[in-house]
Amino acid sequence: RAKSLGRKCFVLFDASLQREAIDVLALEGELRDALEHDQFEPYFQPILRLASDELVGYEALLRWNHPTRGVLGPPEFLQVAEDCGVIEAIDWRMFELSCERAARLDRVDTYLTINVSPRHLRHADFDTRLIDMLARTGLSPTRLLIEITEGSLLDDPECMRATLARLQAAGIGAALDDFGTGYSSLSYLHSFPMKKLKIDRSFVVALGSQGEENHTSVVAAILALAGALGLGVVAEGIETQQQRDALAALGCEYGQGFLLGRPAPMAHWLGRDA
Ligand code: C2E
Ligand code: MG
Ligand code: MG
Ligand code: MG
Repeated sequence: RAKSLGRKCFVLFDASLQREAIDVLALEGELRDALEHDQFEPYFQPILRLASDELVGYEALLRWNHPTRGVLGPPEFLQVAEDCGVIEAIDWRMFELSCERAARLDRVDTYLTINVSPRHLRHADFDTRLIDMLARTGLSPTRLLIEITEGSLLDDPECMRATLARLQAAGIGAALDDFGTGYSSLSYLHSFPMKKLKIDRSFVVALGSQGEENHTSVVAAILALAGALGLGVVAEGIETQQQRDALAALGCEYGQGFLLGRPAPMAHWLGRDA
């Protein structure tokens, strides 16, 4: 396409790059303003036991109540927030609000999961800061799980192993998010102290349908291995009854997805103002 456009293409290309750089800068500024004006809010998505529909926990998901564009999700700003570092302050605000709200739930048998960006885990004081925050918000550490992705584990495995062990000693568990999208073997990943594993949505999408995109045998293998390693398994992104039935039939214990409940403010789940 560039060739067929000829010389003018370079001009266009420069202009669009410049435009993009300006947009990123503007977004960066907006993100800092948003922090100052407290426009970030956790939404909560329920995690259920598939066999009984019993609520076992909530995942806190970041939302931005943008003054003109409405409620924005992470795909619209997370990358920029990570690149410019402002994600650290956003996440701490998120952790604080999520833990506060979870602590106020009457149901003390439910857990809360929070998504932790890799850069936090590189901080030597991440665990003490998190433990302090729990004490401040009144949420029991045993009710908190941090969700981390394979990428953050592999960044600096020794440091991660130590951090996760310290968190575990304090009662805070870890769940491996988006499992199946990376390249590491589960047996290697299991060398990190972890309680749960979340099967990525991409494996769930085609479950219960016919054809070569059906990942039934892959999911069955993940479940067998996770079971042998003593990891609880949560399937992400369940949208249809067919997918849910297929997962339940395979023996997947927990699930999350639009079929079971969309992310919403805590007030929605309590049926009152939170
Ligand atoms: P994730 O941790 O894998 O979260 C699951 C994502 O799947 C969420 O997207 C959720 O809204 C979406 N989802 C849940 N059920 C379904 C379903 O049935 N169908 C479909 N199509 N999607 C479903 P969301 O909220 O846009 O978050 C995207 C990612 O942003 C998260 O992926 C997580 O990696 C990151 N993230 C979310 N909240 C935070 C946060 O507070 N801090 C950081 N650092 N990252 C966050
Ligand atoms: Mg997650
Ligand atoms: Mg995930
Ligand atoms: Mg994800």
